[in-house]
Amino acid sequence: MKYSVSLITGDGIGPEQAACAKQILEAISDNSSTKFSIKEVEAGDAALKKHGKALPEFSVDAIKKSQACLKGPVGESAADVIIVLRRMFDLYANVRPARSYPNIPALSGKVDMVTVRENTEDVYLGWEFNADPNTVVALRITSEKASRRIAEYAFKTATARDGKRKVVAVHKANVMRKGDGLFAATCRDVARKYPKIQYSELYVDAAAMNLIRNPEDFDVIVTTNLFGDILSDEAAQVVGGLGMGPAANIGENYALFEPVHGAAFDIAGKNAANPSSILLSAKMMLEWLADRHGDRKAAQEGRRIEDAIVGLLKQNKKTKDIGGRLSMTQFADLVAKSMY
Ligand code: ATP
Repeated sequence: MKYSVSLITGDGIGPEQAACAKQILEAISDNSSTKFSIKEVEAGDAALKKHGKALPEFSVDAIKKSQACLKGPVGESAADVIIVLRRMFDLYANVRPARSYPNIPALSGKVDMVTVRENTEDVYLGWEFNADPNTVVALRITSEKASRRIAEYAFKTATARDGKRKVVAVHKANVMRKGDGLFAATCRDVARKYPKIQYSELYVDAAAMNLIRNPEDFDVIVTTNLFGDILSDEAAQVVGGLGMGPAANIGENYALFEPVHGAAFDIAGKNAANPSSILLSAKMMLEWLADRHGDRKAAQEGRRIEDAIVGLLKQNKKTKDIGGRLSMTQFADLVAKSMY
C-alpha cells in the first residue's frame, strides 16, 4: 500500500533527524510493497521567522492532506505547533513507550512499559489569569469524557501488548480531590470492563519514586497531561536517555508521531544526535497505519526499523549520547543497510 506522510522538519536537531527518517522511509519504499509519498512541512521557530507564523496555513493544509504526520522536534514555538495540532486533530492519547535496549547505560535493563498520557486537558489549555498583578490563577481542566477515553485507550493498549497486563492510574486525588478524584473514579470504572488486566493506582509522587526504584514492575501507566509529560521523560531517562524515546499522538482519525525530546539546540548542526527517537516514532507510525488499514506488511516493515536498531546496539554500534562513537548519519546509514 502507498501512504502519504507529512514530515515536519522542526528546529535544532529536527531537520537532521527528519532527514534520517526520510532516508529510512525511502529505504522501505525502495525495498518493500509499503510505499510512501513524503511531503516536507515547515513548522516551528524557523517557520515563524520566515513566514511570521510557527504553523502557517499551508503547512496545516499539507498535514490535513496526509494520512499521518511524522514530526521532528520544534524549539521555542513548540506550544504553537504541537499543542495546536493536538487540539486541531483531537489527538487525545499521547503514547510513550520506554523499553530497555541492549548495551545502553541505564538504570535497569528490563524495562518494557508505556505511558498513556491524556493529551487534551489539564493545564495545557493555557487558561492562566492574573487574580491581581502579583497572583496568577491557572485552571486545570478534567472531564469525565476525556478521562474515560484515555482510560479505555490504556486498557486496550494493555490488552493488545505482549506485556504484564497491568494498568496503573497515576494521579494526585488526595490533593486535587475533585479533578483527580474524577479521573481516578473514571479509570476505576473502566477497569471493571477489563477483568483480565490488573488495575492499581498510585499517587504521582509515589509513581515518580517507583519508576526509579522498580521500573521493571510497570506495564501501562495512564495519567493526566502534565504528570504524563514529566513521568514519560523520567521513564525515557530510566532506560538510557531521551535519544531513544519515541511518542505517538493518537486521535480517532489522525495521528502524529514525534520524538519525546525537544530541539536539543546544544548539539544541533553537529551530526551528533541520536536518530533512534524519530526512527522508532516512524515505527509507531507504521504500526498505526497498519492497524488502521489492515495492512500487516506495513507493521512488518516498522518492526524492521526496531530490529535493525537493536541489532546495531548488540554490536555496540551506537551514537555518542548512549556511549558510542557513531555520528547521526553513520548510525542512520547502518540502520538503512541492515534493514534489507
Ligand atoms: P524541551 O523543553 O523542548 O523538551 P529541553 O530543554 O528539555 O527541551 P531537550 O531538547 O529535550 O531539552 O534535550 C535535553 C538534553 O537531552 C540535551 O542535553 C540534549 O542534548 C539531549 N538530547 C535530546 N535529544 C537527543 C537526541 N536525539 N540525541 C542525543 N541527545 C539528545
